[in-house]
Amino acid sequence: MSSLKGLNDLDPEILDYLENAPLEHLRCRVLGHGWDQLHEGYIVQEDGAHRGCLTQRVQCWRCLSEGLDTFDSNTLERVGTREYSYVDGYLQAGVEVPRQLVRRYLHARTRTRRSASKVRNIATMGRNRTARTRAA
Ligand SMILES: [Zn+2]
Repeated sequence: MSSLKGLNDLDPEILDYLENAPLEHLRCRVLGHGWDQLHEGYIVQEDGAHRGCLTQRVQCWRCLSEGLDTFDSNTLERVGTREYSYVDGYLQAGVEVPRQLVRRYLHARTRTRRSASKVRNIATMGRNRTARTRAA
């Protein structure tokens, strides 16, 4: 059971994923990947035959997953769809993690951290004042 308020209705498998996934993975799930180009425009050869396609390999700067786009070398129109290669742990086998749940989880986590750090600040206030007095 999560210590975060308002998340106890979540499927335990989804909650387990959310609590163990790196923050970068959760951010990509909410914000979308931040793609940047690694290589561009090399011609794909398959079994020594020229396929007449250009490819573009992209990588997400945040989670480091990769994608491969293929284009017709004459028209530069996309051929097929992007092929994804996710980093380990990004996908959770058999569990679908909707964006809305990731957003709820991150919101709850941020709220909890903020109130926890407020408590810490109040608790250390007296100590800091004493340290400053001693140093002066
Ligand atoms: Zn990403």
